[in-house]
Amino acid sequence: KSLVVAIDGPSGSGKSSVSKEVARRLKLAYLDTGAMYRALTWFCLQNGMDLEDRAAVEAASKALPLEVSTSPQEEYVRVGGDDVTLAIREPAISAAVSAVATTLGARTELIRRQRELIEKHHRRMVVEGRDITTVVAPGAEVRMLLTASEEARLRRRGIQLGGSQNAEQLAAQVTRRDAKDSTVVNFTTAADGVVTLDSSDLDFDETVQAALDIVDT
Ligand code: C5P
Repeated sequence: KSLVVAIDGPSGSGKSSVSKEVARRLKLAYLDTGAMYRALTWFCLQNGMDLEDRAAVEAASKALPLEVSTSPQEEYVRVGGDDVTLAIREPAISAAVSAVATTLGARTELIRRQRELIEKHHRRMVVEGRDITTVVAPGAEVRMLLTASEEARLRRRGIQLGGSQNAEQLAAQVTRRDAKDSTVVNFTTAADGVVTLDSSDLDFDETVQAALDIVDT
């Protein structure tokens, strides 16, 4: 029986670790769609492309030789022969990814691949991102928006405000990325039928339990 669990939310909401654990507990496949946008960004930069060249970014999305893990037990992202699992988490990628993610043609292509992966797993998958509940899988059996206060999100990323100048810069960077992302997909308010789970005052286990409770209802 199909069970797609769609989880959207901003960065630092604990989305990835929570989604992964929910997939493990429910014995479902798992897809981190953000990793796909990051991999495409890595590929474009690797090829010395201008990220403002929308047509080129769209063409790159179609040519992207991407292989991404769909198991919550192991994390890997490969582009051609390169293992980019760690490289796509670098600050240079985080800073550039919004330019790629706001390219509509590239989104269309990655969304197509995401839907293909969901089907390949017989619609038994936890899928996390920004537009899963609304665009990629609006028909998902379970749809939730994982939110957290800005303070909680920065805390989880180890950013202490009022600390160093570096911390202030990092905080500004995260906020800027969210602002840019939300111009294309609205992941700050829940769409109709989407359950909001606010994790600001919950620890990891409590958040996972709350998500499992939503799946059960
Ligand atoms: O989730 P993560 O922070 O790794 O996502 C990286 C970037 O990928 C986001 O900042 C956003 O620009 C983009 N993204 C997106 N749609 C998704 C998932 C991620 O636009 N479904």
